[in-house]
Amino acid sequence: MRLGLQHSYATLPERFYARVAPTPVPDPKLVVFNRGLARKLGLDPELLEPQAAAMLSGNRPPEDANPIAMAYAGHQFGGFVPSLGDGRAILLGELHAPDGTLRDLQLKGAGLTPFSRGGDGRAALGPMLREYLISEAMHALGVPTTRSLAVVTTGEPVFRESALPGAVLTRVAASHVRVGTFQYFAARGDQEAVHTLLRYVIARHYPEASDVEVPALAVLRSVAQRQAALIADWMLLGFIHGVMNTDNMAVAGETIDYGPCAFMDPYDPNTVFSSIDHRGRYGFGNQPAIAQWNLARLAETLLPLIDPEPAKAVELATEVIGPLIAQSDARFLAGMRRKLGLSAAVQGDAELARRLLLIMEQSHADFTLTFRRLALAAQSPEAEPPLRELFATETDITSWLQDWRTLMTNDPEPLDKRLTAMRTANPAVIPRNHRVQAALDAAEAGDYGPFHALLDVLQRPFDARLDKSEYARPPDPSERVLRTFCGT
Ligand code: AMP
Ligand code: MG
Repeated sequence: MRLGLQHSYATLPERFYARVAPTPVPDPKLVVFNRGLARKLGLDPELLEPQAAAMLSGNRPPEDANPIAMAYAGHQFGGFVPSLGDGRAILLGELHAPDGTLRDLQLKGAGLTPFSRGGDGRAALGPMLREYLISEAMHALGVPTTRSLAVVTTGEPVFRESALPGAVLTRVAASHVRVGTFQYFAARGDQEAVHTLLRYVIARHYPEASDVEVPALAVLRSVAQRQAALIADWMLLGFIHGVMNTDNMAVAGETIDYGPCAFMDPYDPNTVFSSIDHRGRYGFGNQPAIAQWNLARLAETLLPLIDPEPAKAVELATEVIGPLIAQSDARFLAGMRRKLGLSAAVQGDAELARRLLLIMEQSHADFTLTFRRLALAAQSPEAEPPLRELFATETDITSWLQDWRTLMTNDPEPLDKRLTAMRTANPAVIPRNHRVQAALDAAEAGDYGPFHALLDVLQRPFDARLDKSEYARPPDPSERVLRTFCGT
């Protein structure tokens, strides 16, 4: 079967990738398939789904595939690794979607590649289902993200701490070019390749940068803007990526590489879930600073293309990267205004948002539920008690609510419009850790019911019918999942 694949990346010079076919698996079985996404990609789900197990396990790749593993480097927890690359992912090619965009089609867990180092090239079912659930939830929440087309089990165990069922995820992305892709060539002193990659990124993601005076600087600025926005979008939902290494940061601005990521339940800006993030480098509140650090690494690779005079190049790059945290904070505040039901910047809005987060932190109030109940309280004061219940002491929330209602009353924009905005900024349902874990545990034991039920609600996170459902409920203390794992 042919999918109409294109191969823009595979036409770049040979040193950008390794040509490698997926390794066949013994018994591929399709466990989840994303019909809606298939249609968006211009693929016919009726034709594709029956072929999906064989095709998307890598056993019978599309006839027009040109499989490659991409080369990249990366800073992992601050330490530079000059050669990482796709150790278990294989790019089949790109699809020209009906909406005019070009989308990478990649198999994750497809077998050994020249970049596998000590790894087995494979993926376990749990982490692949986890990526499927969370990436599709992020998409439904309106956050730029790679997406998931399918998960196929392989019929072969993978050995981690114990033997686990193996699986392959089909990932769809605006592209898989990472900050670390630029670093790979820069670290080798291959300036020509950096320039080629820059031209590729401009053509594919930032065409507006092609006819400006300094394209490298324009790309850096656009990537920084998208990252600043992305991190703010994450934080407005309580999302923690967990492994913001430079190889896990896509220059197209999508959330990528779902590993130990998680949404927090009680609000605490110091929350860290990842079992390997001992110092909290990638904790909730650090994410804007880390994005800036990563963008500085990207900037370093581009300096010779920014200005022939090194000091001048650094100065220009610094002007672009310097404001990133402030840009992210501004986007966060704008988002907070929407979450609070306010239309535009008014005197005291930032202070009001800051105070709410502070009393939430002191009360260990559930992040998602607080804002959702606030949206309900905005519709009628009678809906206030369930919101108040989330706070340990009455006095703080009472005085906060008074000040909030004052700003709400004085807001010039029609209330209806703001209430609608609130309902679509404050989800009823997010992929709560304990729910995700329970769904994955059941799937591993052969029962996909909880996974599909959870996936269904995550695709309509703002649906008012979910407010009373089990999925909106935070975990009991005994249910809380405090640690997450990469699963690699
Ligand atoms: P990640 O932690 O998934 O972002 O991966 C970091 C690096 O390790 C990338 O170069 C991956 O390709 C590689 N990697 C992760 N898991 C495996 C595996 N099971 N086999 C081979 N390479 C892997
Ligand atoms: Mg990665």
